[in-house]
Amino acid sequence: MQTRGSVLMKSPGKYETVDLEVDDPREGEIQVRMVASGLCHSDDHVATGDVPVGMYPFAGGHEGAGIVTKVGHNHKGINEGDHVVFSFLPSCGHCRWCASGMQNLCDLGAGLLAGSRWGDPTDFRLALADGRRSGGADVRDLDLRGDHHGFGGLRREGS
Ligand SMILES: [Zn+2]
Ligand SMILES: [Zn+2]
Repeated sequence: MQTRGSVLMKSPGKYETVDLEVDDPREGEIQVRMVASGLCHSDDHVATGDVPVGMYPFAGGHEGAGIVTKVGHNHKGINEGDHVVFSFLPSCGHCRWCASGMQNLCDLGAGLLAGSRWGDPTDFRLALADGRRSGGADVRDLDLRGDHHGFGGLRREGS
C-alpha cells in the first residue's frame, strides 16, 4: 500500500515528506489509516541529533489516532474498523510494571528508540521509492523483511 510520511535521511537534518510503500501487517500487527498524527518535539530531538537513533532513513511520527484497516494473524482482539490511538511509550500489558499499573515503566520501553518491531531490530515495514527500508536496511538485502515506523506502542481506544 502507498502512503506518505516524514522521513529523516540523516541527523542533524530536516524531515522530508516522501511517498512510502507499507507492507501488509504480519503476525500480531495491524494496519491503521491515520486520521490525526504529527511530529512532536521528540521527533525534533531526533532531527537535531539530541536524541540519536542511529538508523536512517528514519520515519518520524509516533502519536496519533486512526482506524484499523487490516489485521495480521494473532492480532489479539483488535479488528478492522476499530478506532485506535498511538502512544510514545509502549505498554505490553503483561510485564510486572504494566501489571501493577505503571505502564510508563513497561519493559518494552528499553527498545523505544529501535524503531523496529520488538524483538527484531532489523524488522521494519516502510520502504522508500528507491527500495531503501526505514531503519537503514535495503529491501534487496533483506528480501522484503520489514517496519513498524516510529517508536510508539499501540493501545486500543477505551481500554
Ligand atoms: Zn511524541
Ligand atoms: Zn509492559
